[in-house]
Amino acid sequence: MASARDWVTVNKDSMSFISRVIRYLFWLLVLSWSVALLRRLVAWMLRGATPAASPQGVHVAGSSEAVGMARRLVRDPVCGAHVAEVLAIPLREGGDVLHFCSIACRDEYLRTNADKNTKKIAATG
Ligand SMILES: [Zn+2]
Repeated sequence: MASARDWVTVNKDSMSFISRVIRYLFWLLVLSWSVALLRRLVAWMLRGATPAASPQGVHVAGSSEAVGMARRLVRDPVCGAHVAEVLAIPLREGGDVLHFCSIACRDEYLRTNADKNTKKIAATG
């Protein structure tokens, strides 16, 4: 038979039980998080094992399409350098998308293009 004193100890136990459950849930969260991280790491390592993949292309998308894009080279119209499309700096102009090896090249292109446009305007106007 449970006496009043036993009930107090039971209440204390249930309190420590709740804190234990909270701690358990916390560790469960940490564990599931680290498992997800580990799985991502393994996936990254497996993809890194194939010679086609580039580590910079991984963050763009997890699909094979991104790997194909990483292998595609585009030409910088300013300096003529060939760069991987995922690493290039894109610039949408009209219907075309131009790719540059660096922001400096893009700015150079924009500057020369702006000069051309202002000259055009000056010539017609
Ligand atoms: Zn360039």
